[in-house]
Amino acid sequence: MFNYLKELIVCPKCKSNLSWNTISQNENHIINADIDCNQCGQTYFVKNGIGNFIIDFQPKNSFIGV
Ligand SMILES: [Zn+2]
Repeated sequence: MFNYLKELIVCPKCKSNLSWNTISQNENHIINADIDCNQCGQTYFVKNGIGNFIIDFQPKNSFIGV
């Protein structure tokens, strides 16, 4: 996903700012990242350039290790 989106995306769940832990990126794109919501603790991720901002139906932290 385009890295400028980092500045635009807020938590879909609570609309708060997100904390980005970028794992890999190139000039314009984020390839892999872990993303945490500062407010509600919901986690998201970017994997292979695709951002996943869907609120998961599984217990928190189920995505660790992805
Ligand atoms: Zn949130």
